Amino acid sequence: MEGPIGQKQQQQEFALVSVSELSSSSSASSSEPAVARFCSDSGVAELRFHKEPESIAAKNVNLRISQLFKLGPVRSVCISEGSDASKETSYTSGVTVEFRNEEESRAFHFAFEQWKNEVIQGNQLPNGTVLDARSKFDDKIEPSSAKMYFHYYGQLLHQQNMLQDYVRTGTYYAAVLENRSDFTGRVVVDVGAGSGILSLFAVQAGAKHVYAVEASEMAEYARKLIAGNPSLGQRITVVKGKIEEVELPEKADILISEPMGTLLVNERMLESYVIARDRFLTPNGKMFPTIGRMHMAPFSDEYLFIEIANKALFWQQRNYYGVDLKPLHGSAFQGYFSQPVVDAFDPRLLVAPPIFHVIDFMKVKEEELYEIDIPLRFISSVGARVHGLACWFDVLFDGSTVQRWLTTAPGAPTTHWYQLRCVLSQPIYVMAGQEITGRLHMTAHNAQSYTIYLTLSAKMWGPGAEQGGILQASSCKLDLKEPYYRMSQPQAYPLAQDQQPHQLISTQDIQISSQDLEEPELMQQPSPNSGAQLNSMMENI
Ligand code: SAH
Repeated sequence: MEGPIGQKQQQQEFALVSVSELSSSSSASSSEPAVARFCSDSGVAELRFHKEPESIAAKNVNLRISQLFKLGPVRSVCISEGSDASKETSYTSGVTVEFRNEEESRAFHFAFEQWKNEVIQGNQLPNGTVLDARSKFDDKIEPSSAKMYFHYYGQLLHQQNMLQDYVRTGTYYAAVLENRSDFTGRVVVDVGAGSGILSLFAVQAGAKHVYAVEASEMAEYARKLIAGNPSLGQRITVVKGKIEEVELPEKADILISEPMGTLLVNERMLESYVIARDRFLTPNGKMFPTIGRMHMAPFSDEYLFIEIANKALFWQQRNYYGVDLKPLHGSAFQGYFSQPVVDAFDPRLLVAPPIFHVIDFMKVKEEELYEIDIPLRFISSVGARVHGLACWFDVLFDGSTVQRWLTTAPGAPTTHWYQLRCVLSQPIYVMAGQEITGRLHMTAHNAQSYTIYLTLSAKMWGPGAEQGGILQASSCKLDLKEPYYRMSQPQAYPLAQDQQPHQLISTQDIQISSQDLEEPELMQQPSPNSGAQLNSMMENI
């Protein structure tokens, strides 16, 4: 069962048991079969009622000024309110319709909303006025970003990449199938359905009906996939459009979605998930996933730091075909440090137990996701040079039967999200037991991502520390939209490191020179055991 969205159909017909005008006497109500036809022949989207035979008693309804209400499982009324400028009067008219069964009633309501939507989206207004069809999505997101984004998801290879993340897809499958009681006999909305896989899972778990909403061209592939699985597919309606803009014929008992991006919030799809909740979820409905958590911990990784710093070395050349490149070295250096690093790292690089920030999808307001401010406080487990903040996330499926977590933590089976690290261009030094404070401030931008402001500070130690609380503070600004994907790089932490005794670096071992604080070290290759000798933080994750 599919709606006409995006297909600019010329007409769509529904057989009715009867149709009658509200104002007319009951005798006008016909028990003869009737036909309701949505059409836009004249450029104005209309609903026409024809009693059989066709030529008799047609009633036209202008969709722009009409609303449809349910009177019962198979009875509805269509109310039109308009004004007649020539007579300076306003009028209301109504038509009651009776369907053959509940399924056809549902399909009719769905078609009604879609055709009405088309009127707005297609600006098919008779007097030439253009309704403001901009949605919340359009108001926030740059059109060029949205175009690239949906183009990306419109390609099967990218959907395949997600489907082949077996940690991800397998956890969704388990979370849905193990919580059958949350799906059986329920209406489900799949927010950003992609290939339609989660809708198919929901039907396997007994859903009564699933509306699979997908904005990209992937909606067409989802239709194909669903049609090719008819025993499940007959209970799925693919709706092509943005969740912020589509109309659905009924409310959902449960929303299912995979809206997580890098660091949970990248892509800003959580906002769409929350809008879907506000638009379509019944008051006591459920959301799968239910909450998300961002986890954070400081890390020490000399290899990574040097790798990034060295990228800018190119710009230190004084004679590049006779040109001094040095003037751009500083900018290039900052540019490389503004890229969050995406890769899977060894959790032994963490220097303190992680903390987390909860986003409750059931409660969070959409606007609260525009700016996320997280105060940071850690107690370092080891003496180390801290190179930045490592982040990952998990989400909870709070099922009635089973609670299941999908985690992207370091050390856990790797997912296509990997982990994310914000690297400071100026590392800070800490001793075991020392407090590290700071702030992670993220502001959403109109390219579907966030600007990240990170500050980490620790009291100075070593020579001079006794004189008073001098702070070493280091800050950086990063664009979550422009990560450095480092997955292809060899992992720098050989097994042998595991076997080294965990020593702490003593105060005497490292002298902080003023140069250290101003310029990062370049070219110096760390020995496998230099930098932090890290306790395994696995237990704390
Ligand atoms: N649910 C699928 C796909 C997840 S990827 C799966 O789990 O495999 C997220 C999908 O949501 C993409 O296909 C993307 O095009 C779609 N999407 C993102 N924002 C959307 C929005 N506002 N409205 C509708 N679809 C959206």
